[in-house]
Amino acid sequence: MDLIIARPEGLYCPPGDFYIDPWRPVERSVITHAHGDHARWGNQHYLGSAPSEGILRSRLGQDINLQTLQYGEVIDHHGVKISFHPAGHVLGSAQVRLEYQGEVWVASGDYKVEADGTCAAFEPVRCHTFITESTFGLPIYKWQPQSEIFEQINAWWRQNAMQERASILYCYAFGKAQRILHGIDASIGPILTHGAVEPLNRVYRKGGIYLPETHYAGDFKKNDPLLRKALIIAPPSAGGSTWVRRFGEYSDAFASGWMMLRGTRRRRGVDRGFVLSDHADWPGLLWAIEQTGAERVMVTHGSVSVLVRYLREQGLDAQGFTTEYGEEDDESVIEKAS
Ligand SMILES: [Zn+2]
Ligand SMILES: [Zn+2]
Repeated sequence: MDLIIARPEGLYCPPGDFYIDPWRPVERSVITHAHGDHARWGNQHYLGSAPSEGILRSRLGQDINLQTLQYGEVIDHHGVKISFHPAGHVLGSAQVRLEYQGEVWVASGDYKVEADGTCAAFEPVRCHTFITESTFGLPIYKWQPQSEIFEQINAWWRQNAMQERASILYCYAFGKAQRILHGIDASIGPILTHGAVEPLNRVYRKGGIYLPETHYAGDFKKNDPLLRKALIIAPPSAGGSTWVRRFGEYSDAFASGWMMLRGTRRRRGVDRGFVLSDHADWPGLLWAIEQTGAERVMVTHGSVSVLVRYLREQGLDAQGFTTEYGEEDDESVIEKAS
């Protein structure tokens, strides 16, 4: 029996009568993480991981009807055992494990296999059927270790500070921004954040994640000499707006897995691109799939066909799964050529 099927509202569990990350309002939802393309408004009940509670409430409203589970904690719903397991993607991100009449299915949500210190590290979960994301599901995607990327960011910032120029780094406000703050060398200069980033920093700090001191960029006047040594963290939407004018002379950069594609940096119109992703690269996807021991793999959320073909060649029962995702604050959004 299929424990998860695709329905117009989203991934649906027939015996449990609930949806995973539904994109239309439903009665019962199980949420893998709080990115906007997975956690949407309007569901009557939400089930999420305990570490995701702060972000879910800050984004969907303090009064949503939310029940939470610690990682590994199991509840029984209509005979379906449900539990969350770390996905290593953003704070609170979880894979959803379902067990029913001896069958085990795991829906990965978005995941990343390199641990980064801002959320619980990815843990493979044994299952019969694995539903994997495939945002970067092409062999060309191979990430450098994040320590090397942070060195590149530090070197760029240091150089700009020496030349008395602000460093504006665009990245997704939830997850990527905090990972960068956690990973960079905060001794280089002051760190300023855009108004979209700071509320999320607060939730991370409350969750016990170390982030260096940050200042709200809006508090600084144009021509403040501090700005010339500062790193400014802002969402992509702030780029090209009047918001950046206050920083005077600056260098700008974008941090995303998509920076691996030639042309993306140019389209974004920034000086530098740093290849830093919160999703698994091709070797990471293959490793994660292997670790599950699953014979059946459903591929969704990205470059589906190449990964499906590859897995079939390895003798697995693989197929694509149609889903609707995409929103500004998640890297899952495929860069569109313009
Ligand atoms: Zn995500
Ligand atoms: Zn996503």
